[in-house]
Amino acid sequence: MQEREFIQQCMSNVLAGKRIDMSDAMRLINTSDDNLEYLLDAADTIRRELNGDRVDVESLVNAKSGNCSENCAFCAQSAWYRTGISRYPLLSVEELVARAHAAKCSGAGSFCIVCAWREPREDEFEHVCSAIRAIRDRVGIDVNCSLGFLNAKRAERLKALGVKRYNHNLESSSSFFSRICTTHTWLDRFNTARLAKEHGLELCSGGIIGMGESVEQRLELAFEASRLAPEEFPLNILIAREGTPLQGMKKPVPVDDILRTIAVFRFIMPRCILKVAGGREVHLADRQGKALLSGANGIITNGYLTVGGNSASHDIEMIRGLGLKV
Ligand code: SF4
Repeated sequence: MQEREFIQQCMSNVLAGKRIDMSDAMRLINTSDDNLEYLLDAADTIRRELNGDRVDVESLVNAKSGNCSENCAFCAQSAWYRTGISRYPLLSVEELVARAHAAKCSGAGSFCIVCAWREPREDEFEHVCSAIRAIRDRVGIDVNCSLGFLNAKRAERLKALGVKRYNHNLESSSSFFSRICTTHTWLDRFNTARLAKEHGLELCSGGIIGMGESVEQRLELAFEASRLAPEEFPLNILIAREGTPLQGMKKPVPVDDILRTIAVFRFIMPRCILKVAGGREVHLADRQGKALLSGANGIITNGYLTVGGNSASHDIEMIRGLGLKV
């Protein structure tokens, strides 16, 4: 079958509710440069038909920075590496409320409280719960959180507090994970993600490309995540941070390959919020808008955990300029 015909057939199948398999995905991601636009347009059609024109715009707060016990090789917040980031303990409830308020005023639709730790101590968990309650009562913005490993009791507590979505990334495919972390396993991550979902929280679970994984392993990540049926999949593109074991990964993933990955991930997870997360501004530069016309339908705005990013007003203007909605 000719390449365009194959893309068209995969798109029709996905729109009809069928799934593509790994061999389909490999063929799609290896689409020739001549037909790249055709692939991106097909992914955009799936996004539009199944998810509409609204782009999910989320703002993060790094509520507790650095000194994490884990050794994730990409992460500037691990206590194992000297990366020169600002490290600080858990922010006060008032500070978190103020940040949530600022996120709402800037136009963000949701606010995610992120903490750098394996899992919180009991007092830390209670502190975050107080902040969630205060934001819910006083700000009125969807609250998401990313608090590391979960247990059933804590998942139930977060659900009862009205947390909308829990973030716990798989980070990479299971076959690559031991190359980037040895203090916990891929299955530990998968199990926490599954637990969040089982307790009624929406799930945000994605990963990072550009860490030295193969193209096939990128696709494996998407297929493995799709087993969890996440409501959101954040796709990060590695920023190689000085001091981390991945600091030498300076050769960026080519922009066209990032767009191919986004497009094929849309085929694999047709209905989730596919969010272009960390690395968007650095790696996509003037093609950030193109990512939102190649299958993606979400962004993180106002910067990331340890690096800055576009302002919300800049991002919202970009989204509207593309004819999409916030
Ligand atoms: S568990 Fe999270 S915060 Fe800790 S090193 Fe890994 S990615 Fe970084």
